[in-house]
Amino acid sequence: MEIYVLVKQVPDPEAIVKVKSDSELEIENKYFTNFFDEIAIEAGLKLREKFGGKVTVLTVDNKKVDALRRGIAMGADDAIQITDPALEGSDQFAIAKALATYLNLKDKPFDLIFAGRQAMDDDAGMVGPAVAELLGIPYVNVITGLEVDDPKKEVKVIREVDGGKEILSCSLPALFTCQKGLNNPRIPQVMNVMKAMKAQIKKVDLAALGLNAEEVGGKAAKIKVQKYLPPPKRPPVKMIKEDFPENVKTLVKLLREEAKII
Ligand SMILES: Cc1cc2nc3c(=O)[nH]c(=O)nc-3n(C[C@H](O)[C@H](O)[C@H](O)COP(=O)(O)OP(=O)(O)OC[C@H]3O[C@@H](n4cnc5c(N)ncnc54)[C@H](O)[C@@H]3O)c2cc1C
Repeated sequence: MEIYVLVKQVPDPEAIVKVKSDSELEIENKYFTNFFDEIAIEAGLKLREKFGGKVTVLTVDNKKVDALRRGIAMGADDAIQITDPALEGSDQFAIAKALATYLNLKDKPFDLIFAGRQAMDDDAGMVGPAVAELLGIPYVNVITGLEVDDPKKEVKVIREVDGGKEILSCSLPALFTCQKGLNNPRIPQVMNVMKAMKAQIKKVDLAALGLNAEEVGGKAAKIKVQKYLPPPKRPPVKMIKEDFPENVKTLVKLLREEAKII
């Protein structure tokens, strides 16, 4: 079974992010593998353990490859970085185009593609479905269960819906975006983390994909960031210095008259 997992490196939730200008964020250099992508990697590894085959982690990124190394440390067989200066300015569609073009190369047959339900920084939840659309294969979003019938090339997946679960089926090849609850991603052993640091990452540029700079990057972006706005400044903390029970009375008064939340 040939399995591909789309992975993205995102800022650590504790990283400090500031609006630098209308079109630029300043992000502290603390990154980790997108939480949902680790679930996607685990889904791929579990299927490989059951049916054999290969798990390849794949990213589009001009700088960061730690998400690929995390995939290798967890147990992926191969890691591919699509990278090219012309990718700068990419929107979700351009990223999906680069990924789908790679997956569509004739020497890359695939049975299953996993992605995260969303990236924890830009949060669009678009790349997985866009890749599937471009490849013309079935996809189901936000799955929490998965059962593959390899000989029949069929898959049953579970989604959480209002009031219960939804069970869907489709044929392979297919793409699924993974949600919390599908599995518990394994924590790589230290030895594997060390090996992954030295593992070879295969680099693929646009020329190898047969794409030109007009088809991806800023020139092909359908969506552009108009402006970043910082969150409104928080009002200063107000300390209530009175003793009980006056402090409770003052608190209730402030919540009612100033904060207007009760
Ligand atoms: C080289 C480069 C230049 C960029 N330039 C700009 C820019 O100028 N302006 C701007 O606003 N944004 C830019 N971006 C950000 C980019 O538009 C988004 O990160 C990207 O479209 C994914 O959107 P998302 O994070 O909302 O992913 P979602 O759609 O929320 O991601 C869902 C899932 O798709 C997969 N996925 C997402 N991104 C990738 C990826 N890169 N590789 C592999 N799998 C992925 C993961 O499985 C992820 O869990 C750039 C990104 C790259 C790589």
